[in-house]
Amino acid sequence: MKYVKNLVCISCGESYEASPTQYLCPNCGEKGILDVQYDYEKIKKEWSKKDLASNNDPTIWRYTPLLPIEPNSVKPPLRVGNTPVYESKAMAKELGVSTLYIKDDGLNPTGSLKDRASSIAVVKAQEARINVVACASTGNAASSLAGNIASMGNEMRAVIFVPERAPIGKVTQLLIYGALVISVKGSYEETFYLSEEAINKWGWYNRNAAINPYLVEGKKTSSIEFAEQLNWNMPDWLVYSVGDGCTIAGAWKGVYDLKQIGFIDKVPKLLGVQAEGCAPITKAYKSGNDLIVEKENTLADSIAVGKPRNYIKAIKAVKQSKGDMVNVSDNEILNMMKVLGKKTGIFGEPAGVAGVAGIKQAVEKDIIKPYESVGVVITGNGLKDIKNAQKSVGEPLRVSTNINELYNLLNEYF
Ligand SMILES: *Cc1c(COP(=O)(O)O)cnc(C)c1O
Ligand SMILES: [Zn+2]
Repeated sequence: MKYVKNLVCISCGESYEASPTQYLCPNCGEKGILDVQYDYEKIKKEWSKKDLASNNDPTIWRYTPLLPIEPNSVKPPLRVGNTPVYESKAMAKELGVSTLYIKDDGLNPTGSLKDRASSIAVVKAQEARINVVACASTGNAASSLAGNIASMGNEMRAVIFVPERAPIGKVTQLLIYGALVISVKGSYEETFYLSEEAINKWGWYNRNAAINPYLVEGKKTSSIEFAEQLNWNMPDWLVYSVGDGCTIAGAWKGVYDLKQIGFIDKVPKLLGVQAEGCAPITKAYKSGNDLIVEKENTLADSIAVGKPRNYIKAIKAVKQSKGDMVNVSDNEILNMMKVLGKKTGIFGEPAGVAGVAGIKQAVEKDIIKPYESVGVVITGNGLKDIKNAQKSVGEPLRVSTNINELYNLLNEYF
């Protein structure tokens, strides 16, 4: 942690030494989310775009000077990061924006952006000399933690708490990666509390993203990598779906870091997108009041977070970027899953495409102007949640083995 100064509480401003197990600010409880502070002047002196260009490690570890890890810590071997960015003219036209860049983070090793955070958790757990790592998750944080732990061989163990509604694809992934999986008959919030109790009792390393200040730092590599892939020219908008709020807060931290060290000039506006059936952060953002806990009523399970933990950081990020927030319905999400798949070949899970659905709405509401450029991150892979994907597309054509039946059928299409 050559360039880390300390951790600062976003609520009271108190600072703490950056030890691997310093989670929340003890003065502020749940609102005492800590933020990692870097010595940007020193980074600026010792690290350049040229250094980066000559670094042939394509993974997130190429950004180590901006990560809160010891330089020599052992990293999990899965290839996290280096996910592709596509410019899609067809989708830009569909959405009504000048230019659209799509970063497919569903192509991370376990199929979601969460790998960027979980790989950091594995490193920090080792720095803390704790070999069991635990988390509560709507699915992806869990499967990415389990996968990254599994990649360490037999050295570490993952204990995972999921609400019973977690999609079967994600739960199966957990079991395949050999995690100890505890399915809780309750909401994500109730699952979260159970996990916290068990983590305290057994002294496991805590991978809950809003509690652990280092995980947002992993998530920030999505915007840093995006910027590097666009040759350090940020689009007018960067769009993320929002559940707990860590991802968008991380994206902003990445942008902020790059600005501080002079790698980018232009700072994008952030568009945060929640699901209509569970949008407590959007409501708090719009009203200016404190957050009110909501029901988790959307099929976009990865962003169905009724009591988000990192809303303060998320709202700050959107405001500081001069961005905005919108909500999309489940129908808009399912429709966009189909449109995106058909026009780009990218298959996202519901929360993964919610950002794209949000762009459409933001254009209709004149938040995003038709002459602006937009970058969006597909946060999770569609194969994780086939049941909901099926709802968006219907059935294939069916024929018997009779060739004439096939000809008759195809005549309707060609
Ligand atoms: C976790 C997740 C999000 C949202 O991230 P938060 O940090 O909870 O806001 C969005 N999409 C997918 C696929 C996710 O797994
Ligand atoms: Zn505090």
